[in-house]
Amino acid sequence: MIKEEMKQYLVKEAFLARENSYAPYSRFKVGAAILTTDGRIFRGANIENASYGATICAERTAAVKAVSEGSKSFVAVAVVGAEENADLEHLDLAYPCGICRQVLREFLPPSGELLILVATSPTEYFESSLNALLPHSFGPEDLGYLLE
Ligand SMILES: [Zn+2]
Repeated sequence: MIKEEMKQYLVKEAFLARENSYAPYSRFKVGAAILTTDGRIFRGANIENASYGATICAERTAAVKAVSEGSKSFVAVAVVGAEENADLEHLDLAYPCGICRQVLREFLPPSGELLILVATSPTEYFESSLNALLPHSFGPEDLGYLLE
């Protein structure tokens, strides 16, 4: 179980991450923060590109930062996404997109439970899980025959 204080902290980290969003085209700024099994926190922001397909989401930015720094097991992810000038005290839910759900799926912790926190303000968030957002998923175990 993740303590309430840690959830709140992770949400605040996601808001801080959002400040570095590079979204000149959509003007939809997203921040994410991932808590890893080894107790580290990695922030990420969405980074758009003039070649739109080269854009990367905040969740995947945080995920690749974590993995490239040696943390390959995630226990919680906080996400906040909103239009550039949105009132940060009253946000709509911005769930991870399908691609991000699949990328996060790759790095589940041993428990198989990855908490997803979708913030609606710096102190309020909706709790979900990767299993709820991506049921019947395909993951590393399905290719286990290749890994033996
Ligand atoms: Zn995404």
